[in-house]
Amino acid sequence: MNKIIYLDAAASYLKSDAVIDSQVDFLRNNYANAGRGICARAIGVDNMLNSVRKKVADFIGAEFQNIVFTAGTTDGMNRVVSLLRPDNNVQVALSVLDHHSACLPWVATGAKTVLCPLDSQYNFDIDNISYADVFVLTAMSNVIGVAQDVEAIIRAARKKNPNVIVVVDAAQFVVHEKIDAKKWDADFIVFSGHKIGADTGVGILYIKNPDDFMPDKFGGGMVQVVDGNNFVLNCVPERFEAGTLPLTQIAGLGVALENIEKNRPDISLLKYMRDELSRLPQIQFVSPDGAAILSFVVDGMHCLDVGAMLGARNVCVRVGQMCASWIHKALGVPGTIRISVGAYNTIEEINKVIAIIKDIVK
Ligand code: PMP
Repeated sequence: MNKIIYLDAAASYLKSDAVIDSQVDFLRNNYANAGRGICARAIGVDNMLNSVRKKVADFIGAEFQNIVFTAGTTDGMNRVVSLLRPDNNVQVALSVLDHHSACLPWVATGAKTVLCPLDSQYNFDIDNISYADVFVLTAMSNVIGVAQDVEAIIRAARKKNPNVIVVVDAAQFVVHEKIDAKKWDADFIVFSGHKIGADTGVGILYIKNPDDFMPDKFGGGMVQVVDGNNFVLNCVPERFEAGTLPLTQIAGLGVALENIEKNRPDISLLKYMRDELSRLPQIQFVSPDGAAILSFVVDGMHCLDVGAMLGARNVCVRVGQMCASWIHKALGVPGTIRISVGAYNTIEEINKVIAIIKDIVK
């Protein structure tokens, strides 16, 4: 049987043996709950959590107390909404780059929303940044695959409103580029573990000023003392982590961070594929040359048909709207075919897929 060629890292990154082994080792040899015990095992889990939290902080240029473990980007964005509780007088700037996870939690609050203008290349138009109370910034679209100039955009948003609260969706950006939380000066940054080679079920919420917010979730682990109806909150960041955390996934996240820092996906593979496919006049590219994602449409073929034909030949790509309906509407196409690579993909795989695509669209 032909081996599967997996070109869908942007949906979820394949896991390295090192990540899998670290999770198995944790489950088999080191498992206990954190923060609730004084036995050696429980203390070991506390130490593991502290060490991974510190690694995440170093990974994004932040401090230990800024890092909250979540279930992923979607969870992180919804948590920010819960922390801020915007009413319908609050103006939230969104953009067509947003994944549904970045825009719908705000739309659902009933707050006023505006779409921030983008230039013809779908980059934020820095000279025309929208005034906002909350500015949602997708640092890299999961369809276009271009890193935005996050620092400059945030500076421009603060020029319009010095009190703006900036929330960055870094779900795709974090795979390819270094996040520099301090330099960016964002108020919140969210991303998922599974897109950088960790397991599903774990993500990160960076909070610039964690002491300024009351927790949005209540329960065990986020309080120091409870006396009847009175309670004293735990310190930050643990006060934002009610209940048991995804411990096994956090153990794997520590290893995934080391992997991705040393070994980012080689996006020149996509450039090469694009050069090869650009000889086919029926292929129209949606993502620009050099992007971290290769998105395209095929004249006369529905993207779902292309996806099914690739799937039948053991090639895994993503097709459709990828939870990003606004950008597809702006592009004027019902859906796209998206190819994305992880550090595990090879030129041999890319050559095979180029040949298969040429055969499918001929
Ligand atoms: N934002 C972007 C830009 C994404 O690509 C994704 C995942 N496709 C998400 C948010 C949501 O991430 P998750 O499903 O891991 O919560």
